[in-house]
Amino acid sequence: MDVAGITRMSAVVDGPAAVVFRAACPDCRASFELDASAIRLAIGGSRRTTFYSFTCPECEAAVRKPAGERIVELLTGGGVRTLRLHQTV
Ligand SMILES: [Zn+2]
Repeated sequence: MDVAGITRMSAVVDGPAAVVFRAACPDCRASFELDASAIRLAIGGSRRTTFYSFTCPECEAAVRKPAGERIVELLTGGGVRTLRLHQTV
């Protein structure tokens, strides 16, 4: 299992570059697959402000989890929309 809580999967769907991510909800403990458009990634200036979020399709909880470097790479590589919070000085 992936300790980071989200894993990229190869999708069995039509179309180019279709990627789904397997994630789990900390609230209802459901696990499910999300496509890139269901996930938002925010990259801030520190670890604390770098996170990804999605809405649980089971209980509709807004889930937010910290995203380490590997996760950021995984998500951006999968076409997840990225919001950059970091301000360049
Ligand atoms: Zn849930």
